[in-house]
Amino acid sequence: MNAYRHILLAVDYSEHSDTVARRAKDLAERYQARLSIIHVLDNIPMPDTGYGTVISLAEDSGYDLLEAEKAKLMQIGNQLGAAQADRWMIWGTPKQEIVKFAERENIDLIVVGSHGRHGLALLLGSTANSVLHYAGCDVMAIRLLNG
Ligand code: AMP
Repeated sequence: MNAYRHILLAVDYSEHSDTVARRAKDLAERYQARLSIIHVLDNIPMPDTGYGTVISLAEDSGYDLLEAEKAKLMQIGNQLGAAQADRWMIWGTPKQEIVKFAERENIDLIVVGSHGRHGLALLLGSTANSVLHYAGCDVMAIRLLNG
């Protein structure tokens, strides 16, 4: 079995994101793998953008809601010590964008929570479920008990 070389953490900023993030960091350290982080924006209106837009983290959009989302990604990125270039915010549908991104970036392990903002306790959330089905690489769903 080959070691993981590039791990993708998918964060939705739900209350259990830290647990999922810590597990991804631990795995990246154990495997000495590169760690990328993705947050898919599906909950704020984005006028005049096409599907699958990558949002620049370097430029100020002048849009408060978007800047607040960026700040959360920066905080998690800093906590995990992920390179600036490995922090991604993409506009679209989480389950689709996570799988597409993983293919494009040659990710070999995706780490998601078993549920998030849309999931129920003890059930696999729809994003985790879909990523498990459609990803071309390994997927680790971190069991989250409450929320
Ligand atoms: P859910 O399907 O909403 O229950 O979410 C399950 C897991 O999918 C979460 O714990 C995250 O790891 C991931 N996820 C859900 N929504 C997003 C999102 N907007 N961006 C990135 N990852 C997400």
